[in-house]
Amino acid sequence: MIPIAKPLLGEAEANAAYDAVLSGWVSQGPKVAEFEAAFSRLTGAPHACAVSNCTTALHLALLAVDVGPGDEVITVSHSFIAGANTIRQCGATPVFIDIEAGGYNMDPALIAAAVTPRSRAILCVHQIGMPCDMPAIMRIARAHGLAVVEDAACAAGSQIRMDGAWRQIGYPIGDVACFSFHPRKVLTTGEGGMLTTARADLDAKFRLWRQHGMSVSDRQRHASASVIFEDYPVRGYNYRMTDIQAAIGIEQLARLPQIIAQRRRLADRYHQALEAMSGVTRPAEPDWASSNWQSYAVALAPGLDQRQLMQSMLDRGVATRRGIMNMHQEEAQMDLPRRFALPRSEQARDQTILLPLYAQMTDDEQDEVLAALDDGLAAQFHGSRPRADVLSREPVQSHS
Ligand SMILES: *Cc1c(COP(=O)(O)O)cnc(C)c1O
Repeated sequence: MIPIAKPLLGEAEANAAYDAVLSGWVSQGPKVAEFEAAFSRLTGAPHACAVSNCTTALHLALLAVDVGPGDEVITVSHSFIAGANTIRQCGATPVFIDIEAGGYNMDPALIAAAVTPRSRAILCVHQIGMPCDMPAIMRIARAHGLAVVEDAACAAGSQIRMDGAWRQIGYPIGDVACFSFHPRKVLTTGEGGMLTTARADLDAKFRLWRQHGMSVSDRQRHASASVIFEDYPVRGYNYRMTDIQAAIGIEQLARLPQIIAQRRRLADRYHQALEAMSGVTRPAEPDWASSNWQSYAVALAPGLDQRQLMQSMLDRGVATRRGIMNMHQEEAQMDLPRRFALPRSEQARDQTILLPLYAQMTDDEQDEVLAALDDGLAAQFHGSRPRADVLSREPVQSHS
């Protein structure tokens, strides 16, 4: 069985967790601080604050940029449901706009039409690790005085070229970027999240809110030679990461360059094989973006049956997933006003499949995925389809 994803965890992570347990400090403490410092070095963000997962990170990020009751947040429907849930948790309303043609990210050209006097922020998503067009999004945000929160859940290790320099996602472009360390992502701590920002005022809020709004941390009190009484100036949450998770995260970060190199090598192999396969279109990577390929999304030609293709691959032991979900098509969000039609989002969910991709995938496993895909496609062409290797460059639908 070839799974859709597999976390890369080994002795280093197991030993780090072991050491954290035996250190006697298992809740948010020195390892969390060390993980934050390492994440800050990776991204170039002056501040990195660890939290329990990316959903709690999104909640704090939105609160920190003053998203509140009555406000609107412009975002995509074509993303994980935590986006809309956290906007609504702030009392605000998500306003869904469509994705770009030939990709899975927010179409910046659609933002301006969604702006109203109630608009407070843009929540953009670096979907499945592909950076979104941040310069375009920032121009519109500035023109309308909107805050920008980047949902970078899938984007650790992805890069974007801005003003001639390559930057890690998490380098401060928007006001805050939010990361996930769920096992489905490129780095994992089991559950975990991180907020990066250039703004000290926002970082201070995150640190207060993540631990019940308490003025002193456990660690400060523990280390103090004099008695400290904590106080609670604001209402907060318990969104802390544990030191056990952070210890694992430090080891994961050390592996990141190797993980990204491996994922990009495998994505290149997919690109090459798909060029020669009719009925499918490989994902596009703009020349200003370098994806971590958290997921590898293949667009299916019109008429192909997504479910049947996925089933035929599963029957051969290859797991796939359908395209990214759309929140507006889920019952939990159907009460939201429908401001815009979202045809590209709907097509992307239903005419895309995600192929297995993980750092430790072997070339043989990848070839098996490709063979299963090729056979699944052939079956749908009712055997009349010529073999991929005799097809001399069928016209491939352009993705740009
Ligand atoms: C996974 C994911 C989240 C949620 O992350 P958790 O750490 O599981 O809370 C949010 N947004 C996107 C785009 C995701 O892919």
